[in-house]
Amino acid sequence: MKYSDLVEVYERLGRTSKRLEKTGHLSDFLKNVHADDVEEVVLLLQGRIFPAWDEREIGIASQLMVKAISIASGADAHAVTKEWKRTGDLGTVAENLIKGKKQHTLASSELTVKKVFSNIRKLAEVSGEGSVDRKLQLIAELLTSSSGIEARYVARTILGDLRVGVGEGALRDAIVWANFMRVTDEMSKEKREDYNSFIDAVQEAYDLTNDFAVVAKIAKEKGVQGLKSVQIKQGKPIKVMLALKADSATEAFETVGRPAQVEFKYDGFRMEINKDEKGQVVIFTRRLENVTGQFPDVVEYAKEHVKAKSFILDAEAVGYDKKTMKYLPFQNISQRIKRKYDIEKTAEQLPVEVNVFDVLAYNGKNLINEPFRKRREIVERIVDNVRRKIRPSQAIVTDKEEKIEDFFRESREKGNEGLMIKNLEAPYKPGARVGHMLKFKGVAENLDLAIIGAEWGEGKRSKWLSSYDLACSSHGKLMEIGKASTGLKEKPEEGLSFEEITKLLKPLITEEHGKHVKVKPKIVIEVGYEEIQKSPSYSSGYALRFPRVIRNRSSEKGVSDINTLKDVERLYEQQRKQKA
Ligand code: AMP
Repeated sequence: MKYSDLVEVYERLGRTSKRLEKTGHLSDFLKNVHADDVEEVVLLLQGRIFPAWDEREIGIASQLMVKAISIASGADAHAVTKEWKRTGDLGTVAENLIKGKKQHTLASSELTVKKVFSNIRKLAEVSGEGSVDRKLQLIAELLTSSSGIEARYVARTILGDLRVGVGEGALRDAIVWANFMRVTDEMSKEKREDYNSFIDAVQEAYDLTNDFAVVAKIAKEKGVQGLKSVQIKQGKPIKVMLALKADSATEAFETVGRPAQVEFKYDGFRMEINKDEKGQVVIFTRRLENVTGQFPDVVEYAKEHVKAKSFILDAEAVGYDKKTMKYLPFQNISQRIKRKYDIEKTAEQLPVEVNVFDVLAYNGKNLINEPFRKRREIVERIVDNVRRKIRPSQAIVTDKEEKIEDFFRESREKGNEGLMIKNLEAPYKPGARVGHMLKFKGVAENLDLAIIGAEWGEGKRSKWLSSYDLACSSHGKLMEIGKASTGLKEKPEEGLSFEEITKLLKPLITEEHGKHVKVKPKIVIEVGYEEIQKSPSYSSGYALRFPRVIRNRSSEKGVSDINTLKDVERLYEQQRKQKA
């Protein structure tokens, strides 16, 4: 397939923000893609080369792209940088400069999807001596064979910033429209039921594989039967089930039924621990990043203390103090996730206890459709109870509000965040927030918000970005909800510092106006506050009174996981009721 065909659909997608229109464009396109190209095409439509769970990265810095554009266009690096400052987007820069050049040289070979895909994939694979030159060559080769508009998308894909907005929902629906049937307003009830069952089949296959490229290919080649026979693959991650929130024990019972299983909510980070038939253990985070290398201790516990040939466990790893053996808050061990060196030493200094709370597969059998009651029995049977190493999460089964409240206090005393309250009869729903498990944290809930802009500080803070523009989300859009400048430390040794956040934000800057910068929304922070107020100053319509930064949550949460405007409205209402 020609890359220009894909670019045409990028253009169409970029011109609309309506999900139905996007779905239509995607499905018209997917219908005509050959089965041999479909996997590459579906990844590229999402601006990816690897599925989200794959740890490999393209990893090209903007500066290298500047060089590549310079080589391909013949403009000097200075001119490229100037154009970049003017437009704020290297994709547009590549387009403008290559287009300009094309008027002089017309001879170039036509780019194919396979060529673009394979060159970009190689970028992630070359390493060692001479690799920078090799990377430059791979990018320049693509840009040289591109038309102006192709260059725009090549550059953006390489930089991981495609900007055509293909969401998971639209892609899923498009696979159904392209391979089975299209939704219409006049659809009969039976047709609508059929349609929904295709949607479910595609969604379930996606939940098990985490890769729309694989799903699209199966749908094209093997239809619904193929989708239905997709199996859990041990060794590959499955999306984890997400929690809703309960404000009281009674409300929790209303959602999950009585009796319910009630567990400590550990303040650590989620781990999906995966062992295949060959005994190899792989660990994924909640965002399906592979962190096996960072946790040799957990790999060992999983091998030593879980009695099964193969499994996928869902668990929370919580840090503890080596001397007092007491649990520590998450931020004390957060550095283990990113650690690239001194891993053994760090593991020893910052040990974790793995609390296993669910099992998704066991000895080759898929358990996600079994009731939680049964899955929990298996957890207790196969996971040894070894304190401060690995154990089944601490739990009770109860139908009484008082028991929940007592257990909440016990959990808090032991240094946990609160409780998880779970439906004993429910299946495991990967990736879904369906109310099969609820978090109960008592009162006043902090917000997880994205940083979308910042301001350089004054005086001794002038080298740091020291005030942050915060946003919640509403149907995929980011809505401002205020600025925070307290909670951070001036000295890194005292905790999360201005310097650290500045380092994270700097590469994300997209625009600068005086002291103010706009940043790509990538960094997610937890924010505490006194009160939520209505405010016309921000696009969300709300502002936070006395906001303070509690911690950086970017390693566990992406922008799609931040609190929504709906959450803010709910908290605002709750607060109003409490005051009344
Ligand atoms: P939150 O991150 O506030 O949405 O709370 C849900 C998270 O709590 C899950 O993603 C887990 O990482 C964590 N968690 C801690 N203890 C448990 C438990 N016993 N069962 C389920 N999740 C837990």
